[in-house]
Amino acid sequence: MAHDTPIQPSQPQAYARAKLRLSLLSGAMDLALLVLLLTTGASVGLARWSAGMAPPWPLQTLLYLAVLGAGLTLAGLPWDWLKRRVEIRFGLNRQSLASWWGDQAKGVALGAVLLGVAVELVYWLLHASPGHWWLWAWAGFAVFMVVMAQLGPVVLLPIFFKMRPMSEENERDAPVVSRLLTAYARQKAANPKLPRLHGIFEWKLGEKSAKANAALTGLGRTRRVIISDTLLEASTPEEIEAVFLHELGHHVHADIWQGLAFQSGLSLLGFWLAAEALRALGPGLGLRGIADIAGLPLLALVFSGLSLLLLPAANGFTRRMERRADDYSFAALGTAAPLIAGLEKLAEKNLAEREPARWKEFLLYSHPSIATRIRRGRSWQERQSGSIGLG
Ligand SMILES: [Zn+2]
Repeated sequence: MAHDTPIQPSQPQAYARAKLRLSLLSGAMDLALLVLLLTTGASVGLARWSAGMAPPWPLQTLLYLAVLGAGLTLAGLPWDWLKRRVEIRFGLNRQSLASWWGDQAKGVALGAVLLGVAVELVYWLLHASPGHWWLWAWAGFAVFMVVMAQLGPVVLLPIFFKMRPMSEENERDAPVVSRLLTAYARQKAANPKLPRLHGIFEWKLGEKSAKANAALTGLGRTRRVIISDTLLEASTPEEIEAVFLHELGHHVHADIWQGLAFQSGLSLLGFWLAAEALRALGPGLGLRGIADIAGLPLLALVFSGLSLLLLPAANGFTRRMERRADDYSFAALGTAAPLIAGLEKLAEKNLAEREPARWKEFLLYSHPSIATRIRRGRSWQERQSGSIGLG
């Protein structure tokens, strides 16, 4: 375990606090801006101005969105900058300033295209089907999420990160890849329903961050396990196998599909609430009917408010998946020790708080804390040796 400078025990706490403070402040600012846009008449003013500049409604919508989007992006930029400063302060940043600006620009371009299409479609539906627009919009959104889950690893991730397929033919990869493929074959033999795996990829995270990560991504033909170069460097083949088996656990339990189902349930609620909010609050906010683009901040407010309120439920849902995937890895390897060791390294590299306050883990953690995961691993191990001892 080599560090440039030894990690102080208080550092993970300070890092978590700095990150939480920034997300709370930037989130509060976003909500406040949306409320102000609606209540000061700024959104209505912008919509009327766009209508004067570009009469056909698809263009009005785009113009309104471009001005609003530019404003909100600029307002968010200082927060992104501060987030970068935090990563630098804690020694986690490896990305040059130029590359960071490049990522910002790519993010804006990608967001503009996706949001432009989404908003045009939603407002077209609001015109075309005022009574049922929210159902159609939700159906469109659900399809979009499935397509994104499929295209994400082949289209979106490579925009920001280099990905390299790992192969047994490559001398450097061979020890790890052959070990992982053997593990996969063993699992497939025990569980023929295990979906096919379309590749193991090295995720070049190390040129941007000192952090480490691994994930199962994609659907169908794009389904792959990605492992960061930082994790590959820091871990033994056995630890990587344990992490890989954790990812296979997600695979076995169809966690990507479950996540999509959960998200589409939430978004159905969101679209319905948005329709109710437009109907109930629109007139008071000066909107000329529900299809008035000036109501867009209200839609954004409903969705951000709802995701904030349901964050603990969403996190509880993913923590359950993570526990199950950990259990799968323990059982598949017949020991919890390598995953625990791998998780320890991950926590150390990512400066994760080992034992956050209970309420924090409950509300904010998408994964169980490292201490919780280790405890679960130890008790699994004790049960194993207990039963062997008794048998
Ligand atoms: Zn996981």
